[in-house]
Amino acid sequence: MIDIDGSQGEGGGQVLRTSLALSIVTGKPFRIFNIRAGRKNPGLQRQHLMAVKAAREVCGGGVKGAELGSKELTFGPGPAVAGKYRFDIGTAGSTTLVFQTVLYPLLAAGGISEVELVGGTHNPMAPSADFLAETFLPALVALGANATIEVARVGFYPKGGGVLRARIQPAKLRACTLDDWGGTKVYARILLARLPDHVAEREIKVLQAQLPMARKDCEIVHAEAASPGNAVIVRIRHEWGIETITIVGEKGKPAEEVAAEAVQAARAFLEHGAPVGEHLADQLILPMALGAGGSFVTGPITGHTETNIATIKRFLDVKIEVERLEGRRNRIVVEP
Ligand code: ATP
Repeated sequence: MIDIDGSQGEGGGQVLRTSLALSIVTGKPFRIFNIRAGRKNPGLQRQHLMAVKAAREVCGGGVKGAELGSKELTFGPGPAVAGKYRFDIGTAGSTTLVFQTVLYPLLAAGGISEVELVGGTHNPMAPSADFLAETFLPALVALGANATIEVARVGFYPKGGGVLRARIQPAKLRACTLDDWGGTKVYARILLARLPDHVAEREIKVLQAQLPMARKDCEIVHAEAASPGNAVIVRIRHEWGIETITIVGEKGKPAEEVAAEAVQAARAFLEHGAPVGEHLADQLILPMALGAGGSFVTGPITGHTETNIATIKRFLDVKIEVERLEGRRNRIVVEP
């Protein structure tokens, strides 16, 4: 039984999700206490509870303490079973984070899985469906994984109701080096659901004034959704893929501010000149550790990355090193 302190480092939901995924893949049971102690609303929220239930469902394991608000949980895994699954979070909780929890167990299972997730697709503090499709999954494909997603409907806070459909085919992960930066081109996509067009136009004005981007490189996507919503998505093409920066609009927050946050994040990415952004960095270490290793160059190391490294090392005997490079760049090397 591995004991995990959920308050370590970031003290967020990622400690739990990484533990669930690794517990199933390694067959090692774990107990986690102080769940999300670093957050204003500690304990299991709907999205985390659904991640626990989804993890149990794909492996038929046993769980104690899976209740809303629970700060302690014990999980005993079984082997992952491929199949058709549907996980309805019931709120706007992040579908992408629940997807990432079951992804690795199902990649290691004995057949193709189809997973439908219902909830939020564009949430603050979580990967957006655009990030998942255009940044995270292509990096995973480079590592040999075979998984696709389709956003059947977008979902915003508070009602959610977004639908993400994923297809996961078992695959053996291979080593991969994601070091090269190369030339960049900047695009933007403004997602609008049940909001007037001037929101998108004001955002585009800010983006165009502050980023190297022409008007023709900014698209407006109108979507149907249960709750109104807006997201500014800046896409930066580099040597081997695309970085996706997503800032989700909030009620009462001016469109100019949403766009300005996206500009700030895009500038930070362009300035450090590393192909792996801060979010992909913390998410890429797990598949590299589970597979045949690899390395990538990223910007400054975040608390999420440090915390995920610490959690991964509790389950796997793996070497994960951070090499400082020039400027604000770092190389992360993973050797199983
Ligand atoms: P909590 O509610 O406890 O904060 P959480 O479930 O939101 O927890 P975290 O531990 O904060 O989880 O982990 C959030 C994950 O979402 C991290 O992998 C982080 O990199 C990722 N993430 C957050 N914002 C973005 C974004 N804009 N684009 C891509 N990924 C993101």
